[in-house]
Amino acid sequence: MAGFKLDFLPKYHSSSYQIYRFFWEAVDFVYPPSCAGCEKPGELFCRDCKTKVNSLHLPICEICGYPILNNGVCPDCQNETPPYAALRSWAEYTGPLRKALHRLKYKNDLGLGMFFSLPLIQIIYAEKWDFDFVIPIPISKNHRKTRGYNQAALIAKPISLALGRPMFQSSVSRVKETQSQIDLSRAERFKNLQSAFSPNSAKLLNKKVLLVDDIVTTGATMISCAQTLREAGCSQVYCISVARTLISHQRAFQPDNPSQISL
Ligand SMILES: [Zn+2]
Ligand SMILES: [Zn+2]
Repeated sequence: MAGFKLDFLPKYHSSSYQIYRFFWEAVDFVYPPSCAGCEKPGELFCRDCKTKVNSLHLPICEICGYPILNNGVCPDCQNETPPYAALRSWAEYTGPLRKALHRLKYKNDLGLGMFFSLPLIQIIYAEKWDFDFVIPIPISKNHRKTRGYNQAALIAKPISLALGRPMFQSSVSRVKETQSQIDLSRAERFKNLQSAFSPNSAKLLNKKVLLVDDIVTTGATMISCAQTLREAGCSQVYCISVARTLISHQRAFQPDNPSQISL
């Protein structure tokens, strides 16, 4: 877990967080990992691969976090404000990071959830986001059955422990997969986003929440889930992901701008 210092956090020394972190460090000790980016033995994500991570720096859009030329809000967010207060991602979804996230999602390399939570905790702390719950973007029952775990929850759990905010996994469930918006008509896109998630409204009224996912591509999933939570009464939704493709969220909504990128 080298390279990410979190000692500045008030809850950093809380026993639940330390136990969780120690558990994953012990797993690394007993079963020495190979790098998830390049397979080199020794570390979960090696120094060389870390240097190849294209982390997203200012200036970025104050709302959607997309890199822009000057400080402020990007034209997409000016045209149609997303249902979330802000979306941030650590880095571009490319190179060794892309390989590593694939390994977290499909190859049971669960310690990577702990590892990739660390830069996200730094971002959340720097942004001074204030929220009541942490919610991992849910996966469908079918995916849960075949995969056995939700990779977003593996990233959300250490964030919840480090920042002292409970994780509330059952607050929203996924009733269908959000399709890529790219080849859909405007009406189809709207319908596609509307019914992907179902909230458990009882505990959401007037709550501020943090949504966590591994990857943001078109942003359709975050938008859909944030919209559902707002409609269920959440007063504020913040979104964070480890990586994102550099395609802006509204560009994915424009029918005359086709792209090969899918969710
Ligand atoms: Zn590597
Ligand atoms: Zn924006």
